[in-house]
Amino acid sequence: MTVRRREFLAGATLPLLGATRSWTLGFPTAPPGEPAAAPLPRLRPVSYRQVRLRDSFWAPRQRINREATVPHLFRELERAGHVSNFERAAARAKEGYRGPVYMDSDLYKSLDAAAYVLGLEPNAGIAEHVDKLAALIRAAQQPDGYVNTCYQVKGRTRFSNLRDDHELYCAGHLIEAAVTHHQATGSRALLDPALRYADLIDRTFGKGPGQRGGYCGHPEIELALIRLAGHTGDRRYYDLARFFVEQRGTKQFAVEHGVPLDRYDGTYFLDQCRIREHTAIAGHAVRAGYLFCAASDLAAETGDLEMLAMLDRVWQSATERRSFVTGGMGSSHHNEGFTSDYDLPTYGAYQESCATISLAMLAHRLGLLHGDARYIDVAERALYNAVLAGVSLDGTRFFYVNPLASMGTHHREPWYDTACCPPNLARIVAGLGGYAYATAERDVYVNLFVQGTADTGLARLEVMTEYPWDGRITITLREPKTSSFALRVRVPGWSAGDVVSRVNGQPSTDAARERGYLVLRRTWKDGDRVEVELPMPVRRLEAHPLVAEAAGRVALARGPIVYCIEQCDQQAPVSTLVVPAGEELRLGPAEPRLLGARTLTGTARSLEGASSEDLYREQRPRQPRSVPIKAVPYGFWDNREPGPMQVWILAG
Ligand SMILES: [Zn+2]
Repeated sequence: MTVRRREFLAGATLPLLGATRSWTLGFPTAPPGEPAAAPLPRLRPVSYRQVRLRDSFWAPRQRINREATVPHLFRELERAGHVSNFERAAARAKEGYRGPVYMDSDLYKSLDAAAYVLGLEPNAGIAEHVDKLAALIRAAQQPDGYVNTCYQVKGRTRFSNLRDDHELYCAGHLIEAAVTHHQATGSRALLDPALRYADLIDRTFGKGPGQRGGYCGHPEIELALIRLAGHTGDRRYYDLARFFVEQRGTKQFAVEHGVPLDRYDGTYFLDQCRIREHTAIAGHAVRAGYLFCAASDLAAETGDLEMLAMLDRVWQSATERRSFVTGGMGSSHHNEGFTSDYDLPTYGAYQESCATISLAMLAHRLGLLHGDARYIDVAERALYNAVLAGVSLDGTRFFYVNPLASMGTHHREPWYDTACCPPNLARIVAGLGGYAYATAERDVYVNLFVQGTADTGLARLEVMTEYPWDGRITITLREPKTSSFALRVRVPGWSAGDVVSRVNGQPSTDAARERGYLVLRRTWKDGDRVEVELPMPVRRLEAHPLVAEAAGRVALARGPIVYCIEQCDQQAPVSTLVVPAGEELRLGPAEPRLLGARTLTGTARSLEGASSEDLYREQRPRQPRSVPIKAVPYGFWDNREPGPMQVWILAG
């Protein structure tokens, strides 16, 4: 069946085509004769544009993102050469390109972040800046749709080094920025050049006559094309994404670079096997995260059982053996990625900000695909901890690498030569509301607990809560559109399932539990009030015994927040502090220098005499003394006096 490109100028909301077997994209995507698909709930996320965050945790971060981070990105794009690269390409210059080959992607991702901000509220200054850069992109674009400033200025042959040169990766970020911008503003300023480029890529790559094979060394184009297909209703983009995903693993990079197949290891590029054959998460962490996001998007369309089984295997290895307690993944500097199971260092943890973001994206997708809260638990842990750590409280400094312990020398930078993380952090903070709610035909899912409002389509929700500092959540339903539906409230795994719920003040004894959600099914009327109480004791987490650097140590957590100890809060060196078993730790006061984040306080022991000048010495008795201990959320560390930090603390 051929589906014409729908007219999408009128609005971004996709109509549902009733008789299709997949409504994620709005058109059937499985060719006739494919095996039966797995029955999947396939939730629809509520757009971040329908969600308003009015809390004391995320709302200040979104304000700082809008007022400080996005203007900072624009300044850095000017300073670091991104803008001049486009100016040189527009002038058809053949010299003067600055920076690494993937510079364009930083500019596109910054536009994506800016567009997310515009989707929440108008902002003349940001809109004007986006329009200026969009005009520059259109000026740089070649008549047939190609645009890549490095290749144009350096005069390289296009698509001649797919393994290393990120052309399709850059194109993917242009497409994503264009879709976000069109959805946010209705403007085609970015969408038109993105479509021209996507069409050129579609003409170039494929199995048809005169087309070539290949795929990008860094996945991104795939999930971007699927987004574009959903936005435009044009299945060519979906088919092209599927082509790229399913080609991967045919070891074309070996051919491209003349590497004998028996000496070729494509793991770094996720090119070691075909997509359905992956047995664990491996290789470069961000590449893995983005590729499996695309695979998840394909599986959501087709219900492909082999793809779903592969995603299960990858998910298990990622979350059970290869991710950090703070929510990120990717252990090693050497490959910016995975090594072996349980290799999860502390001082040496890589945990790139973009890798954490990619895990949050994957967790969210799988949560929607399966309608299962345990995936959202992982997204929540990433978002509230390692993602937030990526950006300073003033919004203008960023971590690329996020260790779990520091000797006091690791600090955020205003920018990086490889500047993937700053704009990625900006766009996920602006779009955070998109992670909070989802719907199915007669279900509203509450996935994250953030004070504010959400127009879910089935009802408007007004949420009151002090989460993540307090587990009480009140949800008032306004103007339900249909008489009966289920409100499904996530019961986080960390709450051990002990949850109290009431509807209009009465205990909801009839509430069911399904796939990690509390299910409140009834005929709702305007003003109905649901109260949920999640217990939030301070938890002491310990790692699997094979996580060597966490042996004999605990990490402190409360609700979704993982804590760390910073030297500026302690009376003894952090490396000597021991949290004794049985010592009560309490929620401490709000820390005014950390945007009001709540601390944990209690009494620890300090192992004085533990340090000496000697690298090695005979063991000798230590004299522990009691000292106060104060822990702060990991997502807020390195915002005060520089000094040592530890997530994993010696356990007594
Ligand atoms: Zn990055």
